[in-house]
Amino acid sequence: MKTLYIIIPCYNEEKVLPITAPMFLKKINQLHKEGLISDDSRILFIDDGSRDDTWDIISSLAKQDKHYTGIRQSRNRGHQNAVLAGLMEAKDKCDITISIDCDGQDDINAMDEMVKEYLDGCEVVYGVRSERKTDTFFKRFTAEGFYKFLKWMGADVVFNHADYRLISSRVLQEFANFKEVNLFLRGMVPLVGFKSTSVYYARAERLAGESHYPLKKMLALAFEGVTSLSTKPLKMITGLGLTFTFLALLISFILLLVLLFGGSVGSAAWIAMLILFLSGVQVSCIGLVGSYIGKTYLEVKARPRYIISQRTEEKD
Ligand code: UDP
Ligand code: MG
Repeated sequence: MKTLYIIIPCYNEEKVLPITAPMFLKKINQLHKEGLISDDSRILFIDDGSRDDTWDIISSLAKQDKHYTGIRQSRNRGHQNAVLAGLMEAKDKCDITISIDCDGQDDINAMDEMVKEYLDGCEVVYGVRSERKTDTFFKRFTAEGFYKFLKWMGADVVFNHADYRLISSRVLQEFANFKEVNLFLRGMVPLVGFKSTSVYYARAERLAGESHYPLKKMLALAFEGVTSLSTKPLKMITGLGLTFTFLALLISFILLLVLLFGGSVGSAAWIAMLILFLSGVQVSCIGLVGSYIGKTYLEVKARPRYIISQRTEEKD
């Protein structure tokens, strides 16, 4: 039977953890009773350097029931790093991981379907928010704008999927070879490949405590996503420069025609065209330099060049 690890990042969550921890335990026990997962399955809390009583709560939970375990980061490093720490901790101990926030916003019951999809052969199952009724208009607008902006900037992510997802340990073994320091998990996981699917759920309100993702952090995450996954902004600079140059040439041609047909063109117009042309050339050159930097950036990351998913001759 397959072993599941539920990966739960926690940062200053003393208010919500006592409410949600028993819910996760109930889920593990239920899945085990239904014969979907083994009794070796665990709930792995990652304390992301909390300053409140979160770690004490995790420690006492671990004493209460063998299914609870925890690790603690030496300081706060952010949600993405906390999830990664949990995934790497779990990858050699289990067959499946499911990462989920600890605040009860993501529907725990979607795990049943996730595990079933895994048993049907999917290695990655994305939890996707089907609706955001409980979010304020502002949160919904900024959050959905976030996904659209990322896509436009060349960072392909699953729309409305945050970090609630199932990943098999097999995918995690390959994922461990992505050594980059700047993390944007929801964009990186699709890069690993393998069979994947989505499971839909309604996003609820936080059961207690406060969000740690204000607009400022969300903008920082969007910036991180774009710059970690895509070099499209650099290509856009080249495009902008070429557009300026082309415009300057086109307008100069029109001005020449005006002169040819006996019209007059003031010297200011020529100077303006010269400035537009030279700025265009300069911006294009910056873009060109940028594309080399972009390539260097991708080389430095040293991501795996290929990942094999199947062989006709399976090795043991
Ligand atoms: N979190 C974390 N480190 C941080 C910030 C948040 O581990 O620096 C955890 C937090 O405890 C929660 C999850 O990441 O389990 C999502 O955070 P939150 O609920 O505050 O974000 P929101 O759902 O409002 O976007
Ligand atoms: Mg939340």
